[in-house]
Amino acid sequence: MRTTQSPSSRVTARSLVIVMALVVLQAASPPQEAPSILGFTAEGAAAQVELERRFDALLDAGNLEEWMRYIVSEPIYTGSPHNKETADWMVEQLRAWGWDARLEEYRVLYPTPRIRELELVSPTRYTAQLREPALPEDATSGIEENRLPPFNAYSADGDVTAELVYVNYGIPDDYEELERRGVSVEGKIVIARYGGSWRGIKPKVAAEHGAIGCILYSDPRDDGYYQGDVYPEGPYRMEHGVQRGAVQDMPRYPGDPLTPFVGATEDAERLTVEEAPTIMKIPVLPISYADALPLLEAMEGPVAPPAWRGALPLTYHIGPGPATVRLHVEFNWDLTPAYNVVATMEGAEYPDEWVVRGNHRDGWAMGAADPISGLVPLLEEARAIGELARTGWRPKRTLVYIGWDAEEPGLLGSTEWAEHHADELRDKAVLYLNTDSNGRGFLGMGGSHSLERVMNEVARAVEDPQTGVSVWERLQAARAVGGDPSALGGEDLRISPLGSGSDYTPFLQHLGLSTLNIGFGGENGGGSYHSQYDSFDHYTRFGDPGFVYGVALAKVAGRLVLRFADADVLPHRFANYHETVDRYLGEVMSLTDDMREETERHNRLVELNAFGLQADPTETYVPPSAEVPVPYIDFSPVRNALARLGAAAADMDRAVDGGLATGALTPARMAEINGVLQEIEQAMTDTEGLPGRPWFRHTIYAPGFYTGYGVKTLPGIREAIEQRQWDLVQPQMQRIAMALDRVSELLRRAAGPPVS
Ligand SMILES: [Zn+2]
Repeated sequence: MRTTQSPSSRVTARSLVIVMALVVLQAASPPQEAPSILGFTAEGAAAQVELERRFDALLDAGNLEEWMRYIVSEPIYTGSPHNKETADWMVEQLRAWGWDARLEEYRVLYPTPRIRELELVSPTRYTAQLREPALPEDATSGIEENRLPPFNAYSADGDVTAELVYVNYGIPDDYEELERRGVSVEGKIVIARYGGSWRGIKPKVAAEHGAIGCILYSDPRDDGYYQGDVYPEGPYRMEHGVQRGAVQDMPRYPGDPLTPFVGATEDAERLTVEEAPTIMKIPVLPISYADALPLLEAMEGPVAPPAWRGALPLTYHIGPGPATVRLHVEFNWDLTPAYNVVATMEGAEYPDEWVVRGNHRDGWAMGAADPISGLVPLLEEARAIGELARTGWRPKRTLVYIGWDAEEPGLLGSTEWAEHHADELRDKAVLYLNTDSNGRGFLGMGGSHSLERVMNEVARAVEDPQTGVSVWERLQAARAVGGDPSALGGEDLRISPLGSGSDYTPFLQHLGLSTLNIGFGGENGGGSYHSQYDSFDHYTRFGDPGFVYGVALAKVAGRLVLRFADADVLPHRFANYHETVDRYLGEVMSLTDDMREETERHNRLVELNAFGLQADPTETYVPPSAEVPVPYIDFSPVRNALARLGAAAADMDRAVDGGLATGALTPARMAEINGVLQEIEQAMTDTEGLPGRPWFRHTIYAPGFYTGYGVKTLPGIREAIEQRQWDLVQPQMQRIAMALDRVSELLRRAAGPPVS
């Protein structure tokens, strides 16, 4: 899986504009001075700069290439023979590099397909191929042994025959459009294209509307020939390429569907498959556009609205039917071992403070881009850190390097580990740093807003391999050209809030640990995602030739790890955090005003029967009904809590940075501040969680209930408003205000008594 966090808007503007932007940026750079690093004393900073220089010098792109070639030589999905072989190999490597490494095993529900059949039965006949053929240009595309064919994990078993309805992306807005056209999916099989939401949302919404089956396909408009040349000529999805993927109801909870809230150890109490609420209730199957074409060609009914039309050579019709299909899927509902590779290097001064760094090690097929392009930099960091340790350096804090298993079926390896070790992690972890896939282009940065300053500082220190400026300057230029006015000033670039989609989710959303997720991309577009063609050959031609961005990722991630490991005072700072949460509140407030105005306008149009009169009388049109008016909402609890937080944040940042600069902080005081900072993200969570999904405990960020990956900030109030659940708004407001006040209280403790 990968995140929706897109590293930058596409840089398509004229080069002149870029050159001008760079001139402005360079004029603004300060002259070289004695190094200063967030969280370090002046003396500590000088030593850290030297340590990072030695770390960089140890990194070797050749290792990344060699390890990827080996790991992706056979399929690496959870439960495959090569998955276990590569886990054992990683443990051996890490031990040889000086780490204490082991496998941690969980037993998780991982259904694999037994029967996959899809047939158009009328008005014409067509049997879907459901397979990805070998290509001479791709050395692993013909591997048949231990190969998993295209399927959606946690689809229900089922054998259903019904008419098709084309539902575009299959998100709630699309069903409103269907309602206007008088088309119901009740008792039908829907066909939805990938995109527009996380894939698991599509069958969930289809089932909520009464559909009995769901077909997902990759339209060439979204990642095929409409975007660029297809594989093997170019990187985009070829006609038989299929996107596999999980469809469990992850916005409810991720991880093993049978063991919510607890680690899936051998003796864990388990739900039955029938009881597990996150398993899909209808059969689901992913197909290629070669297989989708005859189905869509056989459809009639209303022509799809312009925004729904893909790039296949046909007129898109909504149906229902007359195309009728039979969809038959059955699975082996087995428990499978999932092996996390866990390596530790004990801290010399604070062994009970942990810096945790992870990337998953399972893929759907060969998994070159997703996830091994992110895993091999992690391994190279671990090797280089091992080399540094051989020369006598030791991290002050304990380092924990992890290769997760079973991320693809739904973040299983990380979620089970986080649930299993929850108490210890809440007590000890100072950072969870995630990567998952890497490519050519711009640095994507997401995570806890209290880490925005350290993230920016590290990005300023690493060189972009294609241009020679820092990766920060390259991102700044892209954002500035893309129209972000704040990017030209030289102040910190904003990092994205995290929803879900990779292994950071349990650490941030459930445990409330300080979290970052990073990766390069934006210039490696393509359509190999979750197909057999996500291979070594594809990645080394189109992903990151020469692994230069793999090395850049190791430099960024390695610096973050080393700075958190050795900082005198942890680099959490709160001015940026306050500004950002304040902006989120502003967004929710204007959302409410916009919705109120829009609802008034809508209700007036209903009253005038304008919807009915504007429609073409020869076509079916069901006018919408009036909406409940949007009430005025009292945002003052959160506004006041934010005002208190703003003052506390400024005091704390000043007290800590000032104390470090002047050497006024005693070791005891620094330890006290570190204790507070370690807890602070947890103060943003509560055990109540979000309405109807208590596993998600963070009050500032969560994946949306109907977007899946897509983040909702201040999710409690934002989703209550979006879903017009007015009675939930004030309780959620109180929940967020209380969390912000807990943060303020901790910031006051960290700042110490006011200096007079
Ligand atoms: Zn992934």
